[in-house]
Order: sequence, then C-alpha cells, then structure tokens
Amino acid sequence: MRPKAACALGAALFLMTGLLSAGTADTVAAEGGNIRITPILHGSVQVEYGDTVIYVDPWSRGDYSDAPEADLILVTDIHGDHLDIEMIAKLRQDSTVLVVPAAAADQVEGEIVMGNGETQELAGIRIEAFPMYNLERGPEEGGLFHEKGRGNGYVLTVGGRRLYLAGDTACISEMRQLTDIAVAFVPMNLPYTMTPSEAAECVKAFQPKIVYPYHYRGSDLGEFSTALEDDSEIEVRIREWYPGS
Ligand code: ZN
Repeated sequence: MRPKAACALGAALFLMTGLLSAGTADTVAAEGGNIRITPILHGSVQVEYGDTVIYVDPWSRGDYSDAPEADLILVTDIHGDHLDIEMIAKLRQDSTVLVVPAAAADQVEGEIVMGNGETQELAGIRIEAFPMYNLERGPEEGGLFHEKGRGNGYVLTVGGRRLYLAGDTACISEMRQLTDIAVAFVPMNLPYTMTPSEAAECVKAFQPKIVYPYHYRGSDLGEFSTALEDDSEIEVRIREWYPGS
C-alpha cells in the first residue's frame, strides 16, 4: 500500500484540480472482483487483478517506491520511456513473466518474445500482441518514429474484460477495427503519436467502454474530451500522469 501521506496529498490534488493524482488506483468491475488501474507516468501503467500484478512499460522516472513485485511485465517498444532495464530488474522476481517485442529481446534475459498478431496465455492473462506504428510522422522525411512490426500494443483479457494498451501509435486501421474493449489506453502527443482529435476519432471507431488518455505529455486533453462529448457511451477518464511537473 502507498503511505497515508501520499493518499492525503492525492485527495488534496483531487480537490484542487479535479484530477486523481498519479499513484491512486481506479477500479473497473470484472468477473471475480475489480481490476485496479494505477497511472504511473507517461506510458507506464500498473494493473492489478486479484493477486496478479501487471506493469506495462515500467519507467524509473515514475514513483515505484511502494510497488509490489511483478507477476507480468509487458514492454511495448525499444525507446527509453518504454524499455527501462533497471526498472524491470527492480520489479522482477524469479516467477515474473517478461514479454517484449523482438526488437527489445537482446537487451533483456529470460524474456518471452511476442510479435504483432500473436496470442499467449501467461501468468493467467490472455495476451494479444497488437500492432502499433506511425502512419506518417517521423524524425525525418520518409522515416517513422515507430515502424510497423517493431513494437507491440497489447490486448489483455483480465477477469473477462479486454484491456487495450495502444503503445506509441497513430490511428491505425487495426485499432479502428477492435471490438469489445472494456478499457483503452490511448496515446496522444506530437510529434510521436497523434493529436488529441485524431485519438478521439479513433476511439469513436472502436467504442471502448472506458478510455484513458495516456502518454499525453503537453497535449490539450480538453480537445480530446470535447471531441468525445457527444459519445455518451464512452467514459473518458482523465488522470494525472505527470505528477510534480
Ligand atoms: Zn513513448
């Protein structure tokens, strides 16, 4: 558990800003008990279900001071905000399952490599590795920040609910075609992923029940929630993913 002081600070921030502070768990109803979701930082997410602890892209710039050891760690890509070898080592125990895309495999040991389109059941969780890539934005003319096939988004089935962690991606056709997503984590920041409006358009296409903007540093989240205002079926959860900045 996190110390009481942090909880009190979280409550104060909530009152001041209307945002839950990072480090405060949200819940999502699922079969057999709630799923608990903790925003950590940027693209880093903690998901708990029963005794199972899952980290996506754990990054040492986030606050992991009270984080329990991992049962499952998922890495989406090779960039430093997603693949942090030291943080993975800190959260890992002997039984932890570590899933990475092939492009990250030479930087870790004892990993399970998954590629886009592959599905495995690991640590009691059904894991689908999903495409994530840019359509046009890149560091130079003709290049892309995220090339198709290198990184993985993930669709996890937890307690009968499908959670989609998009990773660093544009609004790709595969995302538009997703179905039955209970919770989606969708990135929006330029130049690396997409604009809040582009993200909202994509979310409208696949209609998750709940959506979290994440990996949104510097973006106008009002643009995102306004674009989804008329879509009352989708619950937008705006959370603070950049505590202290
Ligand atoms: Zn990133």
